[in-house]
Amino acid sequence: MKFSDLGIISPILKAIEKLGYSEPTPIQEQAIPILLDGHDLLGSAQTGTGKTAAFTIPILQRISTSNHKQKKKGRRQLKALIISPTRELALQISDNIASYSKFTGAKTVVIFGGVRQHKQTSALRNGADILVATPGRLLDLIGQGYIRLNQIEYFVLDEADQMLDMGFIHDIKKIIGKLPEKRQSLFFSATMPESIIALSDQILNNPKRVTIAPEQTTAEKVSQSIYYVSKANKNDLLSHVAEENPDASILVFSRTKHGADKIVKSLHKSNIRSEAIHGNKSQNARQKTLDRFKKGKFSVLVATDIAARGIDVSKLSLVVNYDLPNVPETYVHRIGRTGRAQEIGEAISFCSGGEKGYVRDIERLISQKIPVESDHPFHDQGTADRSPKKHGKKPGKKSGNKYGRKPDAKSANKPDGKPGKKFGKKPEAKPKGKFKKPSDGNHPFKGGSKGKRFSKKQGNKKR
Ligand code: AMP
Repeated sequence: MKFSDLGIISPILKAIEKLGYSEPTPIQEQAIPILLDGHDLLGSAQTGTGKTAAFTIPILQRISTSNHKQKKKGRRQLKALIISPTRELALQISDNIASYSKFTGAKTVVIFGGVRQHKQTSALRNGADILVATPGRLLDLIGQGYIRLNQIEYFVLDEADQMLDMGFIHDIKKIIGKLPEKRQSLFFSATMPESIIALSDQILNNPKRVTIAPEQTTAEKVSQSIYYVSKANKNDLLSHVAEENPDASILVFSRTKHGADKIVKSLHKSNIRSEAIHGNKSQNARQKTLDRFKKGKFSVLVATDIAARGIDVSKLSLVVNYDLPNVPETYVHRIGRTGRAQEIGEAISFCSGGEKGYVRDIERLISQKIPVESDHPFHDQGTADRSPKKHGKKPGKKSGNKYGRKPDAKSANKPDGKPGKKFGKKPEAKPKGKFKKPSDGNHPFKGGSKGKRFSKKQGNKKR
């Protein structure tokens, strides 16, 4: 399947081609025709599946074809509203739209809280076709009279489950109440519990449903391993991992904000350049740090889960769980930060004594055994041998759930060394040898081998 088979207009095709996308991802293949036909859509998909393009491309196309018809009609009115839970994701969506709309002339404005509103309100005053917004700032600016939603024809609620987790339900309901009845609505969520389905019922009208199983982006694409290590040695192990992979862009997850700062300090002691993003840092500081990381100014970004939401760093080669998450679904979100779209990713999880139960819960959720890497200087055999503490999960959960394949379906990780072939950039746009797959016996801690398996991606287009 090619993008041109989906009925996409040539200015957008040209932009897609420039980005080096060779073929649509499964969600794009399924959702784009539905959306171009004007249907509402309920999409189960998480980031990394290409869902942003799946919803932004048809909206852009519909807007630019109607723009064409009513060219001389004065200031642009907002026609599409996209709601995202976090500033990071909102920025990422608007960046994506900017790339896809390069040759259509559609205008996008992005607004979010935590920064002064002046730039955002003056951008709005100049007129735009598409507004990407976080819920709080949107309601604030509506209240101040800067935004009217009465001309909205396309409404997207992205990452609905995170939106509810973050307590935005009332804001969302207020926003829905301000939208015209007649509109096309799109609703995306990685998970579909009852509360989400109930919310989608209030927004969608006779929707088509598209489901992209998240296990295809995590379990299949991310090579995972557990490193048993005592708590006291975690800092040294992290420095070791970073030193062994000097070209890698590494995202390290810490369970707490304080912990994240401590990790950064310890890395600095080993002369490893690193910075942290977490809830105690201002939005501006977080964004600046993220931008510097994306530009390769430093190689280790330490983050808490909330701060890391929506991070899309195309060069990210390795995720390290310094602390294992106590909620197994969080593990899937975390490792999904690497192995985006066509890439192969790597995820290493440090596990100390008290965390063994988390590994067991995660393995149950993803229906995979995560291989143990014992050949490193800080391996803790005591922890490896210890039986896990109970964390209250019921035993015997059946295999093959929404996060993973049945253990017998294929081998757990990606030992074949082949990049995901389902969709990818054109070979010429794709740098060679980015991710050396760890073949048996070739990992960074094997005697004699300094296999730098997480090398930085070179030359990929920045969007
Ligand atoms: P998303 O799921 O929207 O967060 O997209 C994840 C990443 O995949 C982004 O960096 C996109 O630029 C990239 N992407 C989206 N569609 C394609 C495609 N058809 N081929 C290759 N990469 C893509």
